[in-house]
Amino acid sequence: MGLTFLVVVEETLNYLLFQSYSGEIFLPIDSDFKSKCKVAGEHSGHKVWGLVEPPVKLGIHGTNVAVDWDVCVGDGVCADVCPVSLYDMVDTPNHPLSNRKADPVREKDCIQCLACEMQCPAAAIKITSPP
Ligand code: SF4
Repeated sequence: MGLTFLVVVEETLNYLLFQSYSGEIFLPIDSDFKSKCKVAGEHSGHKVWGLVEPPVKLGIHGTNVAVDWDVCVGDGVCADVCPVSLYDMVDTPNHPLSNRKADPVREKDCIQCLACEMQCPAAAIKITSPP
């Protein structure tokens, strides 16, 4: 059994336990966010979508490689599996889910392999084709 698999299982259990204890339900990233949300600003060369009210609401970072920071549990599996090292992990102190998030800082390098989207334990990532 691979280490990555064990990390994913542990992070998924932590995520479910957090929801259980906190009484909050964190849904996966909304795949229709581009039609439902407005661009709130820019960060490290990519757009940020939706409501941004730090430290609790951090929005969706990226467009074609989109990470919902209000869903991301900061486990870093996406950064580990990405073949083009697209993600940086950044500190997000006092966010209710995790104190670090995956930031798609090299969004344009994506080769759309979907490894990050498939392995994210929180379903926080949505990969789409560039326009
Ligand atoms: S789809 Fe593949 S290349 Fe693109 S960010 Fe995810 S892991 Fe990296």
